[in-house]
Amino acid sequence: MSKKETSCSFCGRPRSQVGLLIAGLSGHICDHCIAQARMIVDEDQTTKTSTQGAPVNVLKPQDIKERLDEYVIGQDDAKKTLSVAVYNHYKRLHQTKIEEVEIEKSNVILVGRTGTGKTLLAKTIAKMLNVPFCIADATVLTEAGYVGEDVESILSRLLQAADYNVQAAQHGIVFIDEIDKIARKSDNPSITRDVSGEGVQQALLKLLEGSTVNVPPQGGRKHPEQKMIAIDTKNILFICGGAFDGIERIIASRVNRQTIGFGSHVTEKVDEDNFLKYITPTDVKSYGLIPELIGRFPVLTYLEPLDAKSLKRIITEPKNAIIKQYIRLFEIDGIRLTFDANVLDFIVEKAIEFKLGARGLRSICEAILTDAMYELPSKNEKEFRVDLEYAKAQFSKSKVARLKVA
Ligand code: ADP
Repeated sequence: MSKKETSCSFCGRPRSQVGLLIAGLSGHICDHCIAQARMIVDEDQTTKTSTQGAPVNVLKPQDIKERLDEYVIGQDDAKKTLSVAVYNHYKRLHQTKIEEVEIEKSNVILVGRTGTGKTLLAKTIAKMLNVPFCIADATVLTEAGYVGEDVESILSRLLQAADYNVQAAQHGIVFIDEIDKIARKSDNPSITRDVSGEGVQQALLKLLEGSTVNVPPQGGRKHPEQKMIAIDTKNILFICGGAFDGIERIIASRVNRQTIGFGSHVTEKVDEDNFLKYITPTDVKSYGLIPELIGRFPVLTYLEPLDAKSLKRIITEPKNAIIKQYIRLFEIDGIRLTFDANVLDFIVEKAIEFKLGARGLRSICEAILTDAMYELPSKNEKEFRVDLEYAKAQFSKSKVARLKVA
């Protein structure tokens, strides 16, 4: 008599029809059922976490600012404003029942020169909160139907960052860089459509107003056959960054008008070196962002230009400061790397001279250390000291040094 073939106690498939059959105390489970059970568990967890918000680390504004201080140097005003905005945003997410007072979303615009830490701030916040994060470049966006990317591609990227977990993506943070580049070109007498300026601003409104948007999971228009995924943008936090070149002039003329204007009560002396600190939504509107868009960004703050002192702090102080990274890289090879104090000043000086800002600090360090990183692992050295003479010599023969001539 043939013995009855063992089968899965859940779906009944016999051993011969499944890949794997695991025995339990009083039954068996096959690989199909394990996979299905896993999906049910995952789904259950995401619905729980989306209502209870468990995996999102909600910190108090002061804690958020302290954590930002570990990675970002200076920019106290921006950090404070951003900490409050993020805290309020997550408070809003935790509103469980429909309350009379509906808290609005606190999307943020960060205004500041390139390389002052706008992206770094947004990225650090997302990491701290453990939510999906993506960076989109406003300059590549165009109105739907034109050459360029549709605004929906931003959400495709967020979805990818969330590993296609729609629930997680719906609580993520999107950083839109160079938002100033889609300003309305009002002075332009051209009769052609402004498809990459005002057109994109209009298209962005759809994402910002908290609607359900159909997103192509792979992004772009190259895969017209792909199935769209619906994403609710209600709880996605949007942070925009832009240099807004020339906005200081707009601010200055407004501030000066107000301080000398009739009935003015302003007695405080205007800080003429940093007009950005007086920025208001009116200035952003004069610059060319449409009022509907500005209205969806209730938080507006600025980043200060980085001076030599801040640049020096940037290479040495943050948790993952560049110098700390190089010391660690050498340490892995058993080499103790040290820098003379004047070398750090030299690096900062060159970053300023070549107008590279904080972004350039890394390339200058790389120029100074590449030879050492190439040669030392094959030698038996235990120590490597970078002095000013060595730094200058290495830098002068590097590509970065040639930048200035170009
Ligand atoms: P942007 O303002 O153009 O978005 P980023 O945030 O991308 O500038 O900054 C470029 C790089 O410069 C960062 O990766 C970081 O290493 C460094 N950096 C810029 N500003 C700061 C800052 N305030 N504190 C620490 N590092 C900074």
